[in-house]
Amino acid sequence: MAEVLNIVGGGLAGSEAAWQAAQAGVDVVIHEMRPRVGTFAHQTGDLAEMVCSNSFRSDDDEQNAVGLLHWEMRAADGLVMATADRHRLPAGGALAVDRDPFAASVTAALMAHPRITRRDAEITDIPADGHWIISTGPLTSAALGQAIQRETGSEALAFFDAIAPIVHADSIDMSKAWMQSRYDKGETEEERTAYLNCPMDKAQYEAFIDALLAADKTEFHEGETAGYFDGCLPIEVMAERGRETLRHGPMKPVGLTNPHAPDIKPHAVVQLRRDNALGTLFNIVGFQTKMKYGAQTDVFRMIPGLEEARFARLGGIHRNTFLNSPTLLDRQMRWRAHPHIRFAGQITGVEGYVESAAMGLIAGRMAAAQILGQPLPDVPQDSAMGALIHHITGGAEAKTFQPMNVNFGLFRPLDGVRGGRRGRKDRYKAYTDRAKAAWQGWLAQSTLDADAPAA
Ligand SMILES: Cc1cc2nc3c(=O)[nH]c(=O)nc-3n(C[C@H](O)[C@H](O)[C@H](O)COP(=O)(O)OP(=O)(O)OC[C@H]3O[C@@H](n4cnc5c(N)ncnc54)[C@H](O)[C@@H]3O)c2cc1C
Repeated sequence: MAEVLNIVGGGLAGSEAAWQAAQAGVDVVIHEMRPRVGTFAHQTGDLAEMVCSNSFRSDDDEQNAVGLLHWEMRAADGLVMATADRHRLPAGGALAVDRDPFAASVTAALMAHPRITRRDAEITDIPADGHWIISTGPLTSAALGQAIQRETGSEALAFFDAIAPIVHADSIDMSKAWMQSRYDKGETEEERTAYLNCPMDKAQYEAFIDALLAADKTEFHEGETAGYFDGCLPIEVMAERGRETLRHGPMKPVGLTNPHAPDIKPHAVVQLRRDNALGTLFNIVGFQTKMKYGAQTDVFRMIPGLEEARFARLGGIHRNTFLNSPTLLDRQMRWRAHPHIRFAGQITGVEGYVESAAMGLIAGRMAAAQILGQPLPDVPQDSAMGALIHHITGGAEAKTFQPMNVNFGLFRPLDGVRGGRRGRKDRYKAYTDRAKAAWQGWLAQSTLDADAPAA
């Protein structure tokens, strides 16, 4: 009997996974709980519903990493991108989408496919056998979330993200900042210099606190806050509790000596920590925040050394179910402990509609390949898809893992191209050229044939 691929959750990721697997010749069942069981954000029973903004962000495939991801998904005959293109709204260089006809069209295309069926059901347990993709998203139902957490342990499945801003390393002014771990702790030189420190004098600290208090903040969505605030306060909330709170918390200046001014004790120090193995990204430690994006860039550029900072992603705190993928998933998106199950979408620790759909595309193809007995090579790290997969399945620091958007900081640096702000245009073009070639090469090696005998 032909083996079936079961997909839990027909959101952006599950819809694309279903399409890719069915197109490869595999029978698919989508298990979707809506409309019978709702979430606080979804409004309909359609598949691929966009819950908030209607934007797929930049469509520039030469200068923008998310635009590049669009390109790669189009090259792989992605249903989500083809449908978004058909329901495009005017939005300058961005790809804005008419959300209701978009979701209705994705649903209709999937339901018209002879290999796809839908079951209106909430899956509440870890499937014991068969072939599965779990793509239940940031609002995974409570029963399934708890079942996953029982298997992974509480450290490895989070129900909220607490994202500190992430800065491109080459945009930090090292004539002001320096590398040093507090009290020079660590066995190796690498550990003793694991943190990047930005010093503040008293006037700079006071101005920073004023700016934090005055900044525009976003509100939690209704239903989002339950059980949150225990361990991980936004910095502006810490500042509201007292002007000195941050100086005794994430900005404490002790155990550090500024080599640029060894005789002056900093009043406060902002610390950044490496965010990926490549060393191209640093996160600002303890700076999770609900400040609006525009306010964040203004406030964080007040930090000495970050005046010219470019942000790979800004901070945030949301209701978000996601795995510690670097410890749990292999390069083929399989759950190491249960290899008959893959994960896809936002639950893997990517962030955003496009990234989620992209992970669905890969998981769908990988699962189909496994069922057909025609295993696929790993996705090349130089493609946008590969940069993301590499990050979530091992490139990211597991201890501090938080959801990630696609961005050029995830790409392996290129030899011979100019760094910094000035070289950006040429550098991004070089990244996207390299990515497209790598992706096309992978696609050419990855054609599946449902009629071929299994390997
Ligand atoms: C409030 C909110 C606002 C957001 N705003 C944006 C934004 O503006 N832009 C952006 O790019 N991203 C945004 N996101 C992130 C966005 O959700 C994801 O980018 C994207 O929808 C994730 O795709 P997904 O397929 O992983 O999950 P989803 O699209 O959420 O799909 C998961 C599906 O699984 C179903 N499901 C859950 N549990 C079960 C179960 N046990 N059994 C069966 N079915 C189940 C759900 O009903 C849902 O249909 C937002 C997220 C939230 C929560």
